[in-house]
Amino acid sequence: MYDVATNLHEVKDGLPEGVRLIAISKFHPNEYLEAAYNEGQRIFGESHEQELSAKASTLPKDIEWHFIGHLQTNKVKYIAPYISMIEAVDSFKLLKEINKQAAKHNRIINVLLELHIAEEVSKYGFKIEECRQLLEEGAWRELKNVHISGLMMMASNTDDEEQIRKEMTEAANFFDEVKEKYFANDPAFKERSWGMSNDYPIAIECRSTMIRVGTKIFGPRIY
Ligand SMILES: *Cc1c(COP(=O)(O)O)cnc(C)c1O
Repeated sequence: MYDVATNLHEVKDGLPEGVRLIAISKFHPNEYLEAAYNEGQRIFGESHEQELSAKASTLPKDIEWHFIGHLQTNKVKYIAPYISMIEAVDSFKLLKEINKQAAKHNRIINVLLELHIAEEVSKYGFKIEECRQLLEEGAWRELKNVHISGLMMMASNTDDEEQIRKEMTEAANFFDEVKEKYFANDPAFKERSWGMSNDYPIAIECRSTMIRVGTKIFGPRIY
């Protein structure tokens, strides 16, 4: 096995206060997650519903699971009973469905709105302008079983640090705008989820509160 314990500490032990590590364990077997768990890691991120459900049913119950991938509305019902955060909400339709399924379980599910800032990496997420419009329209305020906790984004997959920094700064500035306009009285709107294996140090400089690191901890994924 990849030296999960050493790698985990390398990432985690240097994090400034206020930045949490989400260990992205997609495509890795339970024993890899257990190795991280045994070193104290409790938050894991997965991007496929079936894989997540299989892991959640067999691994320790005090793990907080984050769903980080594109979530189809017809899959929400399977994870609604236990998911801790759904990070990549990319449509109002999905937000409504999460609300509906959360209500069935008498829960409030924390979510992040996914921004689409990088040009090439993903076809999902709101353009800044679309996200503004969604928040301005205000229908989300009626959804009592979802709580919008912040914003999430993926920067371009590039070696150009200035490009990455530019995108993350845009996200951080937009966070400030949204916080002031819609969530000034909600201390729990506070999360800025950006930074992956190749760019998390930049993300921390750009005020990330949650880095999502997979490869640097668990090694390459075998698809
Ligand atoms: C896979 C994934 C990550 C982790 O990427 P690494 O490069 O392995 O650290 C982070 N965020 C999202 C949304 C992902 O899909």
